[in-house]
Amino acid sequence: EVKARGEGGIERYRPGMEARGAERRRLVADLHTAITSGQLVTHFQPVVTLPGGRITGAEALVRWQHPSEGLLGPGAFIEAAEQSGLIVALGAWVLRDATREAATWPGELTVSVNVSARQLRETGFPDLVAAALRDSGLPPHRLTVEITESLAVGGGATAGNLQALRDLGVRLSLDDFGTGASTLSLLASCPVDQIKLDRSFVPDGGSFAIADAVAQMARAFGLQAVAEGVETAEQAARLTALGYDRAQGFHFARPMSAADLRARLAGEVVVTATPLGHR
Ligand code: C2E
Ligand code: MG
Ligand code: MG
Ligand code: MG
Repeated sequence: EVKARGEGGIERYRPGMEARGAERRRLVADLHTAITSGQLVTHFQPVVTLPGGRITGAEALVRWQHPSEGLLGPGAFIEAAEQSGLIVALGAWVLRDATREAATWPGELTVSVNVSARQLRETGFPDLVAAALRDSGLPPHRLTVEITESLAVGGGATAGNLQALRDLGVRLSLDDFGTGASTLSLLASCPVDQIKLDRSFVPDGGSFAIADAVAQMARAFGLQAVAEGVETAEQAARLTALGYDRAQGFHFARPMSAADLRARLAGEVVVTATPLGHR
């Protein structure tokens, strides 16, 4: 047994290991139940214009309404979903739920959906997206698929899938930008429309040099620049001065239920989204 290998082995036995293995299997089994029995919930965090702070869309963020633990954030289960392969079913559910919800929003509001490496490698992924768009009635240009940098170079059907999504008219965004293996050649070759500066580069005071460099890079490549994790008016002002087009963060709005977002939208004058540059 791998776990008993010891010296030179890949994993050393530690007391309690079976318990943790059992815990993980239990989590995966419960998550499977959650996906199939309607315990998942999509929350939405508004994305706003800079300057102006007007809502142009929202990012879909999955939660698990756990029967005994309460509302769980993705930090509690996404990794287990990825490792077990359940992320494919989970991601498909989020895609359908988010597009169905966004189709009810007024104007040209957009929805962003996070997609993991495993999903994007699946040959059938573009068909799944096409079906979600068709069944919801959401126009393709109102859907943005968020991927991470490491994932954009991730083998299998990935490159073909990214192009297929683009051909459908779906927008692509590079999420958590700056934390992965970003290279200039990736930006030049990957058919993305938007980059989202990771919130670790939105400092509370201190230097905005990285945020500045990323904004300039976005301009050079003709990409929309979004800043995430904006928590203060000061940060919003700095990012606006640096040329960020969009922002997301607690300063503007926290992730909220679909019903709360609808109520908020009902009280807003909705802007028409500016078309993204197509390359
Ligand atoms: P992300 O895509 O980078 O999403 C942004 C995260 O930052 C969200 O955390 C959001 O609640 C949080 N956030 C937003 N504004 C602020 C702020 O001003 N300050 C701080 N400190 N945090 C802020 P959340 O909802 O816990 O999601 C965490 C991550 O889980 C996401 O990061 C994304 O990578 C992943 N995720 C969420 N939903 C899905 C999904 O449906 N599928 C997949 N594959 N991944 C998902
Ligand atoms: Mg995201
Ligand atoms: Mg992000
Ligand atoms: Mg992030």
